[in-house]
Amino acid sequence: MNSVKPITTNIINDIVNKPLYYFKNDQLNVSNIISPNDLDFFEEYYCNYYSEIVYYEYNRPSCPKCGSSMNSNGSRPAKPNKWDGIRKKQYICPECNKTQVTKLEDHIQRYSNYTRAICQKSLEYESIGYLPYQKKAEIIKVENGIRINRQTVYYHESKYSEHYITQKEEELQKLLKEMNVEPSGIYCYDEEYLHENGEKCVRLAIIDAVTNLIINDQVIYQEDFDKEFMEIFLKYNLEGLPKKILITDGHPAYPAIIEKICIDHQLCIFHIIKNQRTPSFRKINKINTRIHTIKKTIKKNEEEIKELQKYGKEKLGRPKDSDKKRKRKIKKIKHLEKENKRLKKEL
Ligand SMILES: [Zn+2]
Repeated sequence: MNSVKPITTNIINDIVNKPLYYFKNDQLNVSNIISPNDLDFFEEYYCNYYSEIVYYEYNRPSCPKCGSSMNSNGSRPAKPNKWDGIRKKQYICPECNKTQVTKLEDHIQRYSNYTRAICQKSLEYESIGYLPYQKKAEIIKVENGIRINRQTVYYHESKYSEHYITQKEEELQKLLKEMNVEPSGIYCYDEEYLHENGEKCVRLAIIDAVTNLIINDQVIYQEDFDKEFMEIFLKYNLEGLPKKILITDGHPAYPAIIEKICIDHQLCIFHIIKNQRTPSFRKINKINTRIHTIKKTIKKNEEEIKELQKYGKEKLGRPKDSDKKRKRKIKKIKHLEKENKRLKKEL
């Protein structure tokens, strides 16, 4: 069940004695312990046995004004997730006539049309990958049969994101505790430059190199970022943790800061390799381009020589002074042959 209330021993004892739902006439009466998101269970198994659903208070309510036990007093329509065919039971105080309807606030936040589970749907999709709000709305429709417009999806996302992240973080912390994941003492640190809402930002991240545990991951404005901030960030986040090695790239600012934190410094192996190879690769690429050009030129020259040799093939020996055209061609051939000899040598 998707109820927000944790099921305690008290509730379990209650359930044994009190039903969670019952049928009366053509109505399905459902206690407000059951989330509207779980109503499809009844729809699947009992849809022929009722024409509408009536929510009632699991515990008979007391009057908020005088404290007397309240009695049933009809019902009022309700539209959780904008669904039709659902009502909420109304109660009345026999002493002071105050009325009150069944509360669904465990599942639906006040003034909202949608259950918490539906409001958080788009955030769940977000953790899988980027989707436009329109697409999220379409998936919610397909998955839950709920028509919701993209502005509402956006509103839910901005309203629930903080709560959702906190909740997920708590779940993760619990999981880490269960799995007995402890900081190893070997950490990677790096920065990333990015834009957020048009502002230049820096993201600082420190991650356990052995367990992949994120020690901290923080985005700040670039104007707030300097050596002092970096030092505070590292100092604060490593406080109380085992300190063996901090791995960073080769930025010249790191050694002095890391020395102050009393942890051994190691350059990231990837960066060592990269720093050593980048100049070599640049040179190799240049040479490869030159080799390619030379080979192409030699081939082109050879073809031109062949073409030039075709002229006056039947004539042997030195050309006559009057045969200026042939003379010119022979000169050209010699020039090309000389160039090819030089290029081959270079190759
Ligand atoms: Zn009363």
